[in-house]
Amino acid sequence: MDGQVIVGLEVHCQLDTKSKLFCGCSTDYRSDGPNTHVCPVCLGLPGSMPVLNRRSIEYAMRVAKALNCSVLEESEFSRKNYFYPDLDKAYQITQYDKPLAEGGYLEIEGDEGGEKRIRITRIHVEEDPGRLVHMGTAERGRYSLVDYNRAGIPLIEIVSEPDMRSPKEARKFLNKLRATLEYLSVFDSEKEGSLRVDANISIRGSERVEVKNITSYKGVEKALTFEVTRQKNLLRRGQKVERETRHFLEARGITQSSRSKEQEHDYRYFPEPDLRPLHVHSWLQDIELPELPDARRERFITQYGCSLNHARTLTGDLRLANFYETVVSPDPVTLATLADTWISDTLIGELNYRNMNIDAVDPAAFTGLLGLLRMGVITDKSGTEVLRVMLDQHKNHQPCEKPAVIVERLNLRKVSATNIGDTAADISAKSGVEPDLSIQSNPIVTAITEVLTEHPGAVDDFMKGKKGAFNFLVGQVMKKTRGCADPGEVNRLLAEELNKEGA
Ligand code: ZN
Ligand code: MN
Repeated sequence: MDGQVIVGLEVHCQLDTKSKLFCGCSTDYRSDGPNTHVCPVCLGLPGSMPVLNRRSIEYAMRVAKALNCSVLEESEFSRKNYFYPDLDKAYQITQYDKPLAEGGYLEIEGDEGGEKRIRITRIHVEEDPGRLVHMGTAERGRYSLVDYNRAGIPLIEIVSEPDMRSPKEARKFLNKLRATLEYLSVFDSEKEGSLRVDANISIRGSERVEVKNITSYKGVEKALTFEVTRQKNLLRRGQKVERETRHFLEARGITQSSRSKEQEHDYRYFPEPDLRPLHVHSWLQDIELPELPDARRERFITQYGCSLNHARTLTGDLRLANFYETVVSPDPVTLATLADTWISDTLIGELNYRNMNIDAVDPAAFTGLLGLLRMGVITDKSGTEVLRVMLDQHKNHQPCEKPAVIVERLNLRKVSATNIGDTAADISAKSGVEPDLSIQSNPIVTAITEVLTEHPGAVDDFMKGKKGAFNFLVGQVMKKTRGCADPGEVNRLLAEELNKEGA
């Protein structure tokens, strides 16, 4: 099929270990000054010897098992030789022809609907290089500094087969991979630079282009979408796609041809003489996997009655899935469905809009908000308003009020004939005792009376049989009650009042 998009990914993930891959230096470097987490080993000083961190191999094997890969009976480390200032030894210790694991798969939701298997070619373990920091200005001269804090952090490189057929499938693969690694407790996606992606992309029948160094989840879809357009435009104009390496410029959303054209053989790989081959196959039987995203998704559907799409969203992120279960835990029977819709349909959108993540929301406060909705104290519309106040208070570092307090302060209590006169204290105490009130004191009726007086024309139209006039009047009443009125009640009472007028 000419014209088909073909994508394969190479994903580098930092394993969330306490110390580096071949030395005891701490991996918790992000808030510290440059070159403060270094030692002779990770600085590559002559005579220093690498000692393998057993934990990082265990972590990598957890990933191999979760991605259905086979762990090789024997794997080995190799030296990948190249010269670049971020590489202090002038070689990277990685794995080449004997990787840790081969031949697995990960299931994603394919573009055609349903589950789709993306095959995994291999998983290998390697060390992260250091990091260059570019300084200076064009006028006064540019220069680069190098920080070796990152040098020696354990990485796994996960290589997929070219099984994805669109930038969107590539994004789904990455999201699923991230979720899986987080469920395995081997990876923290919140840490800056913890994931880096190289993507191979081609249009079937043409040469393949490698896009290097994509450092964000959104960046992958952007970079690939740019490439699809660029390559298709070349072909449309009768030109050829060059086989080349390009870099993704995140800020501009484009890829750019890069001059360096290293070929595999330039690296002069050879077995690392300072490390013994790995025989870890027998560890596999002792590795117990936790519940993974697919299993949790199915459990959310059967245990809580979540829809497939919502269950996919909720379990597609470990923190979100944990949040959901904490929120419903006080009373799963009454809260499960309400929490499902409010988190998937409302909360996620409000968080994205504010560039916030789920850690910003106190599950107990959210359960409280759902309680107010379930007891009919507030309308859905007011519920959204309360949620927005909660998120804004957190974002602006203000003291966070409880949902019930926000409802009282903003006077958002649902206006209806049955709960007039309630206060925050007696919402929970309310137990079938109807407050004594006459219908005349109902604020909805008051609002209706005012609206009917203010819009005689619309009343006339209604009497002449124009249905639109009724909706207009409902809208005016909702406006007067600032959205706090129960729409069903407004409809009923308005119809009653209009009947009286008509009589
Ligand atoms: Zn070190
Ligand atoms: Mn690599």
